[in-house]
Amino acid sequence: MNVVSGLRSRALEFLADGLSHDMLIDDVQDMARFSRDWSGDHFAVPMAVARPRSAQELSTLMQRCYAKGIRAAPQGGLTGLVAGAVAAPDRREIVVSLERMARVRSVNPIDFAMIVEAGCVLETAKRAAEAQQCFLPITFGAQGSCHVGGNVATNAGGFNVLRYGMTRDLVLGLEVVLADGRIWDGLRTLRKDNRGYDLKQLFIGSEGTLGIITAIAFKLFPKPTQIETAWIGLRSVEDAMAFYAKARRSCSDLLSAFELILRDGLEVALRARPDLPDPLAGVYPVYVLMELSASGSVDLAGMMESALADAGDAIADGVIAKSLAQTERMWLYREIMVEAQGNGGRYLRTDVSIPISTLADFLTEALAKLGSALPHAKPVAYGHVGDGNIHLNVAPPLDFAAEQMEPLFHEAEAIIFAAVDRFGGSISAEHGIGRLKQKAFLARLDDVSLDLANQLKKALDPRSILGMGRILPDDSNPPL
Ligand SMILES: Cc1cc2nc3c(=O)[nH]c(=O)nc-3n(C[C@H](O)[C@H](O)[C@H](O)COP(=O)(O)OP(=O)(O)OC[C@H]3O[C@@H](n4cnc5c(N)ncnc54)[C@H](O)[C@@H]3O)c2cc1C
Repeated sequence: MNVVSGLRSRALEFLADGLSHDMLIDDVQDMARFSRDWSGDHFAVPMAVARPRSAQELSTLMQRCYAKGIRAAPQGGLTGLVAGAVAAPDRREIVVSLERMARVRSVNPIDFAMIVEAGCVLETAKRAAEAQQCFLPITFGAQGSCHVGGNVATNAGGFNVLRYGMTRDLVLGLEVVLADGRIWDGLRTLRKDNRGYDLKQLFIGSEGTLGIITAIAFKLFPKPTQIETAWIGLRSVEDAMAFYAKARRSCSDLLSAFELILRDGLEVALRARPDLPDPLAGVYPVYVLMELSASGSVDLAGMMESALADAGDAIADGVIAKSLAQTERMWLYREIMVEAQGNGGRYLRTDVSIPISTLADFLTEALAKLGSALPHAKPVAYGHVGDGNIHLNVAPPLDFAAEQMEPLFHEAEAIIFAAVDRFGGSISAEHGIGRLKQKAFLARLDDVSLDLANQLKKALDPRSILGMGRILPDDSNPPL
């Protein structure tokens, strides 16, 4: 046994002593599914995987980590896209998987609130809310795998943000295990509570660097009883944004999704699934997938028809889904497009936001600059444009050698982020910073913000053991 593995096994013996016998896994095979994230781009075997069953058990584990300075990183469903949930290299930290804390504790249809443990899969939490005629409006492609704890830790967005807000807007209370093992109980379903600092806000979007979220009180809404979906073809992004502003007003603000897809993106989906027809008879440079939803007796179908009819020249063609199967088909193009981008191997993912009114200009500029600097690269743009959020991804040519990828991705990212800066946007609209966007984040952070972030980290994690190297730099877990 070498010195490093000797230290590791002593640390594990110390941790395991007093915990339930199956709480820690350290066999490399058994840890395989905790070692790689959804993208497949990031892989690292942790020192061990801890799977607590309760906040109390996690508290004991963290007290022990704190006492010996053993590092830990929380892990949800591993669908995060900035390499935050994968362990640091060289088996230096344990991973805390919340998968055994997955209960829906309560759904209260009068409070319009639910309490869920952090390891509950988002889809399961949504179904539990729906069973009580309520709606948990965090909705996106990874909902069958991601955990609600991961959603809060990343302040996830998704399709419904334009109507209901980001995850931050949906959290009423939290229970958190701190780095030193203390349990912070802020698990309340009150709508109004102005007693002092709103501490839960510190943990939302902190990507596992300030505490481990163990349970969440979510705000719910009435479950929509009607949903209208349309697939619309347009001549330009400008037309799409003009239509968006008009439709939001004419549809009584009942717009619940407004997704932009450029033709290149649709073609990714059509190539991956040649059995699917082009959604419209003609071919258009820009498409919008639009959803209206409501509960109660609103003439939603009439509203959608009028919105399309009144759009005039802004839209070129459109079809309204007449059945659940047609609705599902429309969303399928969007889903396949996201998944099929990885079919050709690695690609650059970005997740930026800009003021909604400048989105068309931003896209024109960024795509033109990418086209002239990297004519062989293939950009694919789509996004939740009702929130000014665009995923401008870049795939390399198929015959590109592995060693050429990184320089291409770096150059493409620099071009996109420079355009984001010019338009006063954000380099991370939804996915967060993790390790992947850290360099770009720090390069844009002012001194006062950095100082406050460092002080916050020190106050909540004085021994520097939690989620090290995510968001803020740490030598043991360098940025990617
Ligand atoms: C196909 C696909 C589509 C996606 N679409 C969207 C989208 O539309 N909008 C969007 O916002 N994101 C999207 N994502 C990204 C991702 O799904 C979200 O970031 C999600 O919230 C991550 O949840 P997770 O449980 O998988 O977290 P993980 O990937 O396991 O972890 C993410 C980060 O959160 C931390 N963390 C996890 N659990 C906890 C906890 N209990 N306490 C403290 N920290 C914790 C981890 O340490 C890590 O830093 C998508 C991903 C995929 C694969």
